[in-house]
Amino acid sequence: APVRHRVALVGAAIGGSLSPALHEREAAALGLDYTYTLLDLETLPPEWTLRDAVGITGFNVTHPAKQAVIPQLDDLSPDARALGAVNTVTVDGSRLIGHNTDHSGFLAGLRHGLPGARLGRVIVVGAGGAGSAVAYALAGAGAAVGIADPDHDRLDALLARLRGRFRDISAVDHVEDALSDADGIVNATPIGMTGHPGMPFDPGALSSRHWVAEVVYRPLATQLLLAARTAGCRALDGGAMLVAQAAETLSVLTGATPDLGRMRAHLGEL
Ligand code: NAD
Repeated sequence: APVRHRVALVGAAIGGSLSPALHEREAAALGLDYTYTLLDLETLPPEWTLRDAVGITGFNVTHPAKQAVIPQLDDLSPDARALGAVNTVTVDGSRLIGHNTDHSGFLAGLRHGLPGARLGRVIVVGAGGAGSAVAYALAGAGAAVGIADPDHDRLDALLARLRGRFRDISAVDHVEDALSDADGIVNATPIGMTGHPGMPFDPGALSSRHWVAEVVYRPLATQLLLAARTAGCRALDGGAMLVAQAAETLSVLTGATPDLGRMRAHLGEL
């Protein structure tokens, strides 16, 4: 009998998630028996754990559970362990294994959307959940990574985590100055999202030799991306990471190989 994939997203305030549509449509195109449902933590008792989800064959995990879920798991992939965050859980009999496709999704989205982008020195603005995954991915791809965040506790924690593994990780105090010897820059702050207007740094410091990537995907065309395009930069919207992260999770959960271009086209219709 064909394998039945019953996937659930665990998190809070997930009602507007694009993941069910992205996953189910691509899974259907791949000929999989696959459903993707929402398990909103705000509707579940506080003592609820992943093991209480009956019939689920795999999980996506999002805010605020990416770290909190780790004690419920039997094992972690090396990357999830290094990042200290899980966004995908495979169910193997009674064993729950944590994975992280945020970092691999960011890199796959970058390689797909900005082929050939130089990864010599890259600045990551924001050291939270998205920034950690982005910085880990870029460092793993060989980039020297400079990270900026006014929250020094968060910044220092991320620097310490990355310096244990990678050679060239630095703190950036002044993003505009640091652009002078950078190939690219990633906005991993919420600035630019609907409800958080503005730009995370002065785009006057950009020149056409820089590439600029966003993690913000609501809206896809942020003020920063518009300014970057005006400056002649190659620019990548946050939809690239969103789609590639979903593709990597689909692949981890099913073994299938999703089509990033087709998924990106699906996103455009949502
Ligand atoms: P977070 O709250 O964990 O981290 C945001 C960080 O940005 C904080 O540490 C904050 O101090 C820092 N920050 C704020 N203003 C700054 C500034 N001007 N300069 C430098 N740092 C600044 O948030 P998060 O979970 O990392 O999410 C950030 C954004 O990424 C949200 O818009 C979210 O929707 C988006 N996101 C997108 C994807 C995707 O797949 N495209 C995945 C995850 C998150």
